[in-house]
Amino acid sequence: RKIVVAIDGFSGCGKSSTAKTVAKELGYTYIDSGAMYRAATLHFLNRMTVLTNPVEVEKSLDTLSIAFHPSEENGRQETFLNGLNVEEEIRSMRVSENVSEVSKIKEVRVELVAQQQKLGKKKGVVMDGRDIGTVVFPDAELKVFMTADLLIRAERRQKELLERGELVELDKIANNLKERDRIDSTRKESPLLKANDAVEIDTSFMDFEDQVNQIVELAKK
Ligand code: C5P
Repeated sequence: RKIVVAIDGFSGCGKSSTAKTVAKELGYTYIDSGAMYRAATLHFLNRMTVLTNPVEVEKSLDTLSIAFHPSEENGRQETFLNGLNVEEEIRSMRVSENVSEVSKIKEVRVELVAQQQKLGKKKGVVMDGRDIGTVVFPDAELKVFMTADLLIRAERRQKELLERGELVELDKIANNLKERDRIDSTRKESPLLKANDAVEIDTSFMDFEDQVNQIVELAKK
């Protein structure tokens, strides 16, 4: 029996690395919904879309095509925007600083949620994001809500950015995580919140492996 695993939570809690590994261990498909909002944001930035102009937003959505393909190098999933590999670019601070404003827009969410539901149709899917257990897959068999201490999240993210060659001050990262959490939690359209039937996992002082195992065990139940 294959199921849908929905992983939601605050920014930088390690949702995507956890979800990726859980999917691998279960033999499931991993889908990074945040990457889709990030790719949409990059597209809007490239086109200098005025976010308050519904006609421009609609036009940008009409020319937006997002796809995931495994990397030739290591098999890891990479994000493509209109045929171009944008995996690196969508993780940059520039995109992080704009993504929550783009994610607030109703039309953007309607479009991306529809795409996510299509991708998750065949079960055997682990998807991470902010509204997966509440809006995208309210019937998911397993829902996880991840949290972690802000400073610990910022330190982890700083390390990730550094590995990608971007040196960013800890304060700047912490502020971005906090600001995204604030916008994501208070927006009108499907705000970030824990589903009633979600299992909460605080990863502040948890081993990555324990985190993964806990979710894999729950998925096998
Ligand atoms: O998961 P990640 O941190 O890459 O997501 C980036 C941003 O995309 C979030 O801060 C949020 O604004 C938006 N997002 C969302 N709904 C999702 C996934 C991401 O609004 N399901």
